[in-house]
Amino acid sequence: MDNDCLFCRIVAGEIPATVVYETETTLAFRDIDPKAPVHILVIPRAHHADVAALAAADPALAADVLAAAGAVAEAEGLSADGYRLIFNTGRFGGQEVFHVHGHVVGGSPLGPMLSIA
Ligand code: AMP
Ligand code: ZN
Repeated sequence: MDNDCLFCRIVAGEIPATVVYETETTLAFRDIDPKAPVHILVIPRAHHADVAALAAADPALAADVLAAAGAVAEAEGLSADGYRLIFNTGRFGGQEVFHVHGHVVGGSPLGPMLSIA
């Protein structure tokens, strides 16, 4: 655990979160500032900075995160109409929390994939 990492502290139970799904290796909780009717963050319990670092260090755990995202989408009723799974990566990707997380967003049409100012 990284004591300075917000999501490690959520995993440790030091910061509250609305957990919607969990496995031995993953945790999923509602985003505090939702950008869509459903907006859930899916993380590995272990600290890895971003999705590339996770996939390089522990491919099985990366697979667990993807499977958890699919299970969350199913449980939230998103599978039939579809949804987006986003891994913001690095500065240009808009990543703000450097503990890898997939955003599961859906519940309404999400519009264009990108909007670049
Ligand atoms: P990113 O910009 O991809 O790093 O996404 C970070 C996400 O974490 C943002 O969507 C924030 O709204 C969300 N977030 C920040 N703090 C919390 C928190 N304490 N609980 C749940 N979500 C959070
Ligand atoms: Zn962390």
